[in-house]
Amino acid sequence: MRHEKIHLQQQLELGILPFHLLYLLCYTINRLRRMPHNTAYRQIIFEQEAYDFDTTPGYLHFRKPYAWWKYRESIFG
Ligand SMILES: [Zn+2]
Repeated sequence: MRHEKIHLQQQLELGILPFHLLYLLCYTINRLRRMPHNTAYRQIIFEQEAYDFDTTPGYLHFRKPYAWWKYRESIFG
């Protein structure tokens, strides 16, 4: 539940279409790096934030905008 709310917040700050494009781009890059499907999915920049904090109480209240950007090394690294 909190997991999906984190994704909702990510979509609100980025826009629905850019969110989905970047989501797909991350997955594609990960697959090109020969990650198996599950790893490629979990390493998507938005999934990393969502999985890291989906059990953190009150996360959406103290979360900073564009918090997923700190995982960018998973794209550029
Ligand atoms: Zn997710």
